[in-house]
Amino acid sequence: MTSAPTSSVACLSLPDRFMTTRTRFAPSPTGFVHLGNIRSALYPWAFARSSAGVFILRIEDTDLERSSQAAVDVILEGMHWLGLTPDEGPFYQMQRVDRYKEVLAQLREAGHVYPCYMSMAELDALRERQMAAKEKPRYDGTWRPEPGKTLPPIPEGVQPVWRFMNPSGGVVAWDDNVKGRIEIANAELDDLVIARPDGTPTYNFCVVVDDIDMDITHVIRGDDHVNNTPRQINIFLALGRTPPVYAHLPTVLNEQGEKMSKRNGAKAVTQYRNEGYLPDAMVNYLARLGWSHGDDEIFSREQFLQWFDLDHLGKSAAQFDEAKLRWVNAQHLKAMANAELAQAVTPFIARLSLSTDQRLPALVALYKDRCDTLVALADWIARHYGEVTPSAEDLQQHLSEAVRPAVADLARALADVAWEPAAIGAALKAVLAQHGLKMPQLAMPVRVLVMGTPQTPSLDQVLALQERKVVLQRLAKA
Ligand code: GLU
Repeated sequence: MTSAPTSSVACLSLPDRFMTTRTRFAPSPTGFVHLGNIRSALYPWAFARSSAGVFILRIEDTDLERSSQAAVDVILEGMHWLGLTPDEGPFYQMQRVDRYKEVLAQLREAGHVYPCYMSMAELDALRERQMAAKEKPRYDGTWRPEPGKTLPPIPEGVQPVWRFMNPSGGVVAWDDNVKGRIEIANAELDDLVIARPDGTPTYNFCVVVDDIDMDITHVIRGDDHVNNTPRQINIFLALGRTPPVYAHLPTVLNEQGEKMSKRNGAKAVTQYRNEGYLPDAMVNYLARLGWSHGDDEIFSREQFLQWFDLDHLGKSAAQFDEAKLRWVNAQHLKAMANAELAQAVTPFIARLSLSTDQRLPALVALYKDRCDTLVALADWIARHYGEVTPSAEDLQQHLSEAVRPAVADLARALADVAWEPAAIGAALKAVLAQHGLKMPQLAMPVRVLVMGTPQTPSLDQVLALQERKVVLQRLAKA
């Protein structure tokens, strides 16, 4: 058995700049992917796109107990919704187990791994002794072969785990694109279990084999993986490979300042689709949650891809702010072309069991400025395609006995004007003059009756986009 290197200084140069950039998103499908997670897909996707590279999706599903197909579906749907389309994959780690075993055999042959027969009870006892002595719990190398060392007798009937022979001296270092230079002494790292007794590989080992096989040049992921990185780099080096560039993204905090997680109420990313957020607004919002381009707050997907780089990633944790997300969404809604927005809002109107007609683009144009989600926009438009139910309170407040005759006269006038805003506006004004009323005195009750609410855009435009017979029916209820 060749002995492991006693010292290694990882010398991590940037990959050849003529090499194609290859990034990956490697989620574990153990919970529903939330905004904090999906940001770890957005940046590698954007980096690949902005450098004419390749973006890969890899599902890390080796935790059989916690992984679920439902969680995989949310990942795929969420990425599809946001337009984060992988160029390769999805690859599933559970389908690559033979490959991991093959690489394990290579490491065994090269003397980089060794069998360890320590039982769970012995490991527990070791940990307790170390804790009692105020030491960091770590494997003590009992089964690590060293020149001149006699190993304990192999216990009968015990299947060993396989441990990676971590270099015992030197440091592991890398220039993290977010955190700067990080150096960890090998003395801090114990010998990691990389295969279980039944030969199934463990997490850090699979990640390295995949990153090698998939030719990943840049690993952009959450900083909860910083601790894994020196271990992964040592495995890369043992396999004779240059590790990729690493960029570890600071955590995303929820509105309470805790790490965002499903346990404390983070929503699945697909829920934002259902709540009427636009994919481009979401991309815009998530992009700013940990990256910046000067003071730019609102930008298109194209601008984002033009501007994105790894040099302007934030170093401190970003905090989710739903009010800001709504504001960003409202800006994108406003800026969207009416025809495109009409298409985007259609499923939300269908969800109300209503169907639309040629008025839809004009309706979208009329209401988009006052909406922050597609749900809110659909709610306005539904007042043109479905029933409205004015509240008793609104009716009482706005529809006084004094104004009823004016409403009746308006209905008569509207029965045969040209059905367009100018003519409708003229009819309104004529009735006001006839009854000596001010515009709000008539407009408010008409809005309540026709639209179910006293607050709407300009009444002539609102009425022109209702069907005449519907307006007359609703006014007749006065
Ligand atoms: N599967 C890991 C996670 O979901 C990510 C691993 C990686 O990006 O290297 O946290």
